[in-house]
Amino acid sequence: MTEIKKREYRRHWHSRITEVINMVKMPRIKTCDAKMCGYNRDGICYTIAINVGASGPRCNAFVQADIKCGGDEITSGVGACKMKECQYNDCLICTAPDISVKWHGIQALCQTFTKR
Ligand code: SF4
Ligand code: SF4
Repeated sequence: MTEIKKREYRRHWHSRITEVINMVKMPRIKTCDAKMCGYNRDGICYTIAINVGASGPRCNAFVQADIKCGGDEITSGVGACKMKECQYNDCLICTAPDISVKWHGIQALCQTFTKR
């Protein structure tokens, strides 16, 4: 596949994914300061969806990378969250309008986490 075809293919799928995300009203990632993450460009997350939680409200999609990945459009949202103790968590789904993520030494954490 040529580079142009690959770009067209990615653009097509990202616009379809954006439609789906808008339909399901996934909480958006407003900002993220983990600039060393492969999905981060200028403080904005460009992955499709992240998964949060386990032992703390950690972004499990974080990946240290020199190259910048993700889509051309901003579609990032919270797909799933295991932080049952957060007041925005309803049956392992995040119901916050949006979230912010911040780097804390060794991991990127959801700043919107609010203990019940
Ligand atoms: S750490 Fe998580 S929220 Fe931040 S850019 Fe990477 S994948 Fe997105
Ligand atoms: S706000 Fe709460 S429920 Fe939503 S992603 Fe953050 S920790 Fe999970």
